[in-house]
Amino acid sequence: MNALDCKSPTREQALEVLASSDEDLLDVVAAGGRVRRHFFGNRIKLNVIVNMKSGLCPEDCAYCSQRSGSKADVLKYNWIEPLTAAETADRAVARGAKRVCLVASGRGPTDRDIGRIAETVLAIKERHPQIEVCTSLGLLTVERAKRLLEIGVFAYNHNLNTNESNYAEICSTHTFADRVDTVGIARDVGLSPCSGAIFGMNESDEDIADLAFELRKLNPDSVPINFLIPFEGTPMGGQWQLTPQRCLRILALYRFFFPDVELRIAGGREIHLRSLQTLGLHLANSLFVGDYLTSEGQAASIDLELISDAGFVVEGLEDITLPSARHELVTLRRRGPGTVVAANV
Ligand code: SF4
Repeated sequence: MNALDCKSPTREQALEVLASSDEDLLDVVAAGGRVRRHFFGNRIKLNVIVNMKSGLCPEDCAYCSQRSGSKADVLKYNWIEPLTAAETADRAVARGAKRVCLVASGRGPTDRDIGRIAETVLAIKERHPQIEVCTSLGLLTVERAKRLLEIGVFAYNHNLNTNESNYAEICSTHTFADRVDTVGIARDVGLSPCSGAIFGMNESDEDIADLAFELRKLNPDSVPINFLIPFEGTPMGGQWQLTPQRCLRILALYRFFFPDVELRIAGGREIHLRSLQTLGLHLANSLFVGDYLTSEGQAASIDLELISDAGFVVEGLEDITLPSARHELVTLRRRGPGTVVAANV
């Protein structure tokens, strides 16, 4: 099988997976499950989101409850205190989380925002030195990306969300290319790149396949798969386009495209996969526990029960998530800013 050699499916193969019948669904899940087990065994990595600054975003992403003009009745607040974020991390770590994702609404972080993130990273790392901190703060400049690395951020999330041909339909305030640039900046400064998608926004099978090719070009270490949470009060309100079976086909396809990459089931898991969440564990090796940015997730105790009932185990802090061959591609920077060695330029 191509995926075990980390080769990409062809576009034709990708479309076949998406068009497979319900009768063939378990075969598709089993094929994806073999790839998942080959690279990640029976481990599930748990992650937690902390919404550092909620609502009132000037951008207009159609799927987002925090967008400009959103009528969704979501929490709106400015930056939370570092201690509040650290206490959320405490609760998640007690449930087995090994990555904390600090997320803030907005076009991109200011220098002051990065100062706030620095205090928060410090507060979390003092209590949990081994935890991975990811930030998702919007569009980055090179200087701000370097600063995030210096303050101890490990990964940067910026999703491509939907295929380039649809991008103008879901957002007018920034472009697909802006998003690609930010993922590249994060990767180039040494942050672990995390970039994924949202499905359920009128995309065709061809769009789903083409987006996978675009994401593969970015060589992400983690790929979150979101299924649209159709908030009332946003342009996507009431759009329930997905079935649990379609979600599984998408997850299987992305496992074939990203065999040795952390594939994470993100927002919308509970409401779209519903009673088939367990089958999702055979494809993804990573989940969020707890609540999402502006909507509530199911109780962590239910997630833990799902995981153990299906024969999976929660990945420990000491485990290395990515397979060793991939891990060796990452060389931790020990030169340039923050060291006594000259920069590599
Ligand atoms: S996705 Fe991010 S940038 Fe877009 S509207 Fe929501 S918070 Fe703002």
